[in-house]
Parts: sequence; structure tokens; C-alpha cells
Amino acid sequence: MTPSAASDEPQLEAQESADIAGLVPLLQRIVTARVGQHPAAEDIIQETLARVLAAEDRIEPGMLEPYAITTVRNVIASMWRKDDVAARNQHRMHDPSESVEAAELLVASEEQLAMTEALARLTDRERQVLLAHEVSGLATQVLADEVGSTAGAVAAQLKRTRARLRVEYVLALEGTEPPTDRCRAVLLALSSADRRRQRELDSARHLLECDVCARLSEPLLDRAPERPDEVRVPIGADPDIVSARQAARELAVRAGFVGADLTMLATAVSEVARNIVRFAESGEVSIELLARPRAGIRVIARDTGPGISDIDRALQDGFSTYDGLGLGLPGARRLMDEFEVASAPGKGTTVSMTKWFEKKG
Ligand SMILES: [Zn+2]
Repeated sequence: MTPSAASDEPQLEAQESADIAGLVPLLQRIVTARVGQHPAAEDIIQETLARVLAAEDRIEPGMLEPYAITTVRNVIASMWRKDDVAARNQHRMHDPSESVEAAELLVASEEQLAMTEALARLTDRERQVLLAHEVSGLATQVLADEVGSTAGAVAAQLKRTRARLRVEYVLALEGTEPPTDRCRAVLLALSSADRRRQRELDSARHLLECDVCARLSEPLLDRAPERPDEVRVPIGADPDIVSARQAARELAVRAGFVGADLTMLATAVSEVARNIVRFAESGEVSIELLARPRAGIRVIARDTGPGISDIDRALQDGFSTYDGLGLGLPGARRLMDEFEVASAPGKGTTVSMTKWFEKKG
């Protein structure tokens, strides 16, 4: 027998952690009901908890449970989708890199269409300010001066516009119109992480009742932190070459690169990273997305290695300082639009190279 009085105590202090702990049995019930004793069941629960915790400070406390329920459904659904794609791609397994690339491009073009559609749904004014800021790079103060407003007011407006754009974007990507009058308001409250508004709209209940909002809540809440336009990859060993290449690909896709250009850029990045591993042991590759004068990617590879005494010779075609593996610096130069090497014996080497995006057709 346990003292029964204890269980009637309000658990105010332990509220937060008890909420999270209380989610586990709930999730276990849902996962068991949906996938039975599937070997991935435990992973699904953990993945869901991780996502809920990541979104915790953007939702009001009362929404933890409904959000967990919708998230676990999404995790299960995306697991089935992945299995499905894998099964459909089985016949292409002789060249996995090619099918991965094709899938990436397909996703990229779907995302681009959805973004175009989402932009079209903003008001003219919202679109103008957003594009002037994000594409033309006008500072909030400049925009404020133009309309006799303050930089703070323009920044707040931009924040609201971005939240709205995210809502329209996930709707366009999904290809649906929300089923009720309340949906857009709920989605916007989630997208802008406005907890007071979420409460006013009783978003928690809505998420449980509305399948569309339940599905869309996740990309809105679980959004990655703003993607940086510059990525630095420390280079010390072979696996870092792959990381540098992947980082370059990701940024390049955002710049609009596709097909052969994408491959050339990624290869050039591999080569300069490989150079660091072979000759300098450690260094860094930084990859930057350029918007002006047009879209492009700038790559800077730095190391503190022995340096190159004869740069001209090192850049000659056919000059390979390491046994014919890879293309070396001359190869990287051919793959890029601009290429520069600064080096001195004992001072390390810096390779700067740029590839510009050219619209095809
Ligand atoms: Zn809804």
C-alpha cells in the first residue's frame, strides 16, 4: 500500500518535465496501434520526442500533447513514404548516386514552384518589401526611409511576412487549400511562434480535429534555424572531404545550380579539400552563397601547410603531386569560373575559386 494522499498533490513544480514524461506512454500507445511491434517503433518514439522538445519553446504548454500526437503520425507517415521511395528506386540501384541526384532535383523544382506560388499569394506591398530586402539586399533602414517608417517597424513587418510566406509555402507544397476558416489563422500563429495567439485560437484543439493543419504544423514549427549563406568545414581527414562536398552541393542547389554545373562545383570542392588532407593535414574550406552581382558560389580553401613554392607549375595541367589520384589543383581550376592561389613556402596556401550560376535555355 502506498499513501494515497501523495497522488492527490498538485504537481505544479514538476509540471514541465512531467508533461514530457507523460508523453512517452501516450506515444507508445499510438505507435503500437499503428505499427505494432515494428523494429522501428522505438526509433519513432524517440524521433517524435526529439522533435517535440525542439519545438517546445515555440508552442504554448497546452499544445504539447496534441503536437506530439500529430508529430508521431507524421513521423510514421514519412517512414512509410521513405520505404515506398526505396522500393520504387530499387531497379536503379546499379547507380545510386544518379537516382539520388535526380530525386534531389525533383524536390528542388517542386520547392521552387511552391515558393513562386506562395510569393504570388502575398500582397503587392508585402512582396515588394520582402524582395527588396532579401533579394536586392536593401537594409531595413533604407526601406523605412522610403516609406517614412522606422527600421523596427519594417523589421516587424518582414517577420510577419516571412511567417505568412511559410504558411503559403507549405500549403502550396501540399497542393491543398485549408478546409476551415480558422486554419490559416492557426497556421500563422504557429508559423510566427505567437503563443498568445495560439491560445486565443484554441490551436491545440484545432490540431487534433483538422488533419491538414496537423500535417502542416510540423514543417512550420520544426523549421530549421535560418539557413546560413556561408558554411565552414574544418578539414582534417578524408571524411571531411565528403562533408565539404555536401555542404557545397546544398548551397549550390539554393543558388540554382543543377546537373553538370552542380557536379563540377562539387568535384572542385572535393579536390581542394583533398589537397588540404594530402599536403597540409589540416585546414578549412569555406563555401559562400553569392547573390551579387549574380547567383554563384565562392569557395575558399585555407591551410597552414608547407605551402607551394612554384604556383605556376602546380597549376599546369597534368601536374599531379600525388600519384594520379584525383584531378588536383589544375583540375579544380578547369571546373570553376574564377580561380586564384596564394601561397608561400612555410606560410600555407589559400585557394579562392568562384562558379557563377548561368540560367540555361
Ligand atoms: Zn485546419
